[in-house]
Parts: sequence; structure tokens; C-alpha cells
Amino acid sequence: MPPRNYLNRSLGDGIRTIGFRKWYERELLSSHAHMLLALLSTIALMAIMELFHGATVSQKFLNTGLFILSGAVALWSLRRYLYLLSHAEAVADQANCPQCAEYGRLSVVEEDRHNERLLVKCRKCSHEWTLIP
Ligand SMILES: [Zn+2]
Repeated sequence: MPPRNYLNRSLGDGIRTIGFRKWYERELLSSHAHMLLALLSTIALMAIMELFHGATVSQKFLNTGLFILSGAVALWSLRRYLYLLSHAEAVADQANCPQCAEYGRLSVVEEDRHNERLLVKCRKCSHEWTLIP
């Protein structure tokens, strides 16, 4: 399975190596970096539209290419931002221990990569439950 976030580890590897809270923090940082890229691409789109006034035909072709490129980057980064944020929040909603309500203090017991499920154990009370990433 390809990594969902190239700037962060998968959920199972992340919990094992850096812990759930650090993994979650990095997912949020990655998603907000994509949001910043979407914002900058949108500013570039507006600047390119300003360049169309008084441009020659060859410059307009160049501006059109840059406009399409900036639009593609803006759409891609907005999509990544929303995906990474919603994925991190969906996992964080399941990170409370059902027995003692401890948040984010868990360790991986078993990882089922085929069905994309993670059996985790609370580090406070040793209760086990399944995370669906
Ligand atoms: Zn617990």
C-alpha cells in the first residue's frame, strides 16, 4: 500500500516509533502545509490574471500555461489538505480508550494491512480495541 502522507509515517509505524500524539501532530502539520500551498497557488492565480492586461499574444500563451499549472497545484493541494485533515480527525476520534477514556496513549498489538485495521492497546488499562485508519 502506498503511503498516504509522504511527509509522515503510516499510522501503525507512527504509533510504534513516535507515538500516537506525535503522529497526529505531524498529520496536522502536513495538512496545514498543503493548505498554505493552496493559498499561495490561489494568490499566484490572481497575479497571473493581472498579467493578462496589456500582454502580447505569446505572453498570453505563457500566462495561460502558468494559470493552468497554478490552478492544478491549488486544486491538488486543497484536496490533500482536506484528505489529510479528515483522516487525522477520523483516527483521533477513535483514539479514546473505550474503557478508561484515556486519549492517545496506545500501543499497536497487531496490524492487519490487508483489511486496513489496527488492533491497539491502552497503555493505562491494557484494554484492546480496533482502529480503522
Ligand atoms: Zn484505557
